[in-house]
Amino acid sequence: MALIVQKYGGTSVANPERIKNVARRIARFKEQGHQLIVVLSAMSGETNKLIALAKEMQPTPDPRELDAVVSTGEQVTIGLLAMGLKAIGVDAKSYTGGQVKVLTDDTFTKARILSIDDANIRADLDAGRVVIVAGFQGVDAAGNITTLGRGGSDTSAVALAAALKADECQIYTDVDGVYTTDPRIVPEAKKLDSVTFEEMLEMASLGSKVLQIRSVEFAGKYKVKLRVLSSFQDEGEGTLITVEEDKNMEQPIISGIAFNRDEAKLTILGVPDTPGIAYQILGEIAAANIDVDMIIQNVAHDGGADFSFTVSRGDFAKAQGILESVRQRLGAREVTVDDKICKVSAVGVGMRSHPGVASKMFKALADEGINIKMISTSEIKISVVIDEKYLELAVRVLHRVFNLDQ
Ligand code: ADP
Ligand code: ASP
Ligand code: MG
Repeated sequence: MALIVQKYGGTSVANPERIKNVARRIARFKEQGHQLIVVLSAMSGETNKLIALAKEMQPTPDPRELDAVVSTGEQVTIGLLAMGLKAIGVDAKSYTGGQVKVLTDDTFTKARILSIDDANIRADLDAGRVVIVAGFQGVDAAGNITTLGRGGSDTSAVALAAALKADECQIYTDVDGVYTTDPRIVPEAKKLDSVTFEEMLEMASLGSKVLQIRSVEFAGKYKVKLRVLSSFQDEGEGTLITVEEDKNMEQPIISGIAFNRDEAKLTILGVPDTPGIAYQILGEIAAANIDVDMIIQNVAHDGGADFSFTVSRGDFAKAQGILESVRQRLGAREVTVDDKICKVSAVGVGMRSHPGVASKMFKALADEGINIKMISTSEIKISVVIDEKYLELAVRVLHRVFNLDQ
């Protein structure tokens, strides 16, 4: 008997028929003698709908009230699944985040999990019930409903698996594992049998939204055995997220190509090249709670410096306003912006021992006439910022030159 946490994403619970399918799958695991905690997302499209409703009331919805609204999607699916299980003779009980007590901080819309009370869940498991928990949500110390950021049900599942020391956390979705790149963009993409935490972390943070980045961080930190599988197939081992040492085979140099359209670039031209200037520019951006991704500083012939950075498009307008006021204060020449960009990245732990990956990547892009606007690298990834219109071409070309089609 194993304790398994299973998470089903939005497409897997998109309508009553699919929820009944999930119920049948759970019943089969139960028959094998396993204990099950099931974490659900809202029906696909539902969270977007709820956000749109909120925006009709207030262009920038109050964050506490927004969480009260968007958390309702998951409350529907957990109740429906509990009914679906009871209908086929499987005892089950649904819980909201607050009922479990998934305690979070009070950062509405992107709260962090602080602790999980396992008492109710343990009691139900011991009584032979399937426990169903609403993903994506928690409650702060004052009892307010909070949510964990888009895609947050993955994190709910991994956090529950860590808190209850589950044997495995299975993420069921609409693809049968983690692929070399998004199969929606490159049909030739191949499923990976395993991928290391480090690679998955990079891929998630660079835009592969198959797993929410925080769920991967959590799983790495608490050593949760994490697997991505399809809820539409009965066979298959999916993709196991592993620690590097466990992989005894020769590493491929590149494991995957990730991309992110959610990027915008801002540049301030002609700032004085003096100590503290980066802080003066980015300090205000950080104070406004805006995450900065890539940063470049160039010193020009006249001794002035040009400073560029990227932010997510949701923060673009706000960042532009701040940068304009910084420009006036510093007496800089000009602010230029570009929100028609994207970031494409090659990720692989094999890069550590193989030089020449960057030049291969740059040549492949140059051969297609794609201009690189920014570059950033780490030990296991190379990212470039390019025009958004070249995104699909760049992903396909890189997928091919690094032999990921084979
Ligand atoms: P869920 O609703 O189940 O959480 P998501 O839409 O969040 O599902 O994540 C699954 C989707 O992630 C897939 O349909 C796929 O298009 C996309 N995706 C992006 N990059 C990858 C990748 N490298 N491997 C697999 N899927 C990917
Ligand atoms: N329903 C939430 C979202 O769409 C959380 C999730 O699906 O993981 O972002
Ligand atoms: Mg998801």
